[in-house]
Amino acid sequence: MSTKHEVITEPGAEVDVACAKCSGKTAHVPLVQVHVQGSEGDSNYSVDWSDYHQIVKCLGCRALSYRIVGSNSEEYYHDENDVCVYPESEKLYPPRVEGVKGLGDEKFYLPPKVKQIYEETQIALSVQAPVLAAIGLRALLETVCKEKEAEGGDLFKKIDSLVDKRILTPAGAKILHKIRTLGNAAAHEVKPHTEGQLALAMDIVEHLLKDVYILPKQAEAEFEGDA
Ligand SMILES: [Zn+2]
Repeated sequence: MSTKHEVITEPGAEVDVACAKCSGKTAHVPLVQVHVQGSEGDSNYSVDWSDYHQIVKCLGCRALSYRIVGSNSEEYYHDENDVCVYPESEKLYPPRVEGVKGLGDEKFYLPPKVKQIYEETQIALSVQAPVLAAIGLRALLETVCKEKEAEGGDLFKKIDSLVDKRILTPAGAKILHKIRTLGNAAAHEVKPHTEGQLALAMDIVEHLLKDVYILPKQAEAEFEGDA
């Protein structure tokens, strides 16, 4: 096996990458990169690969990420003109889901237990662990219900009791019941959900966390002393 490292300090060409802070894909520029080329085998048969390890900067929010993009001699297909194409695979650190922004620094307004489960659920979602992400979403609902002293023997009744306490709107409760059943199916039937379903569910839960914890605290801080 042989590998070759080449350090490239010139900024690279712009690429569209899912940003962890901005919503969706944004233009990023590689600030510095290391090109790693490797080969395994002999003169008759060898497997070759080429990876670029890049420190990329988002041109929107300026956040830095680590990106590995590469291809190898074993994964290819022929396009409509019968030209051999080697598709590139991409890995991003910290991991993220395209279009999911997360609560960012606002998560520091959450009670410690809620914050911990929120962060773990976000990790499960971003590393494509859909069963754990769905269970995490359900656990988040359970924790919010407990923290807000919701009444009832099961999560169904607890969510409805948050409507009686005017913490949730009836429309909000209806959506949360959908997430409740989502976590149910994941925990008991180990049934994974699609990334799209889970990203939407996370978005809804983030709105709940904003309404219940974040906005009241921000309002308190901004309008301190106002009658
Ligand atoms: Zn960005």
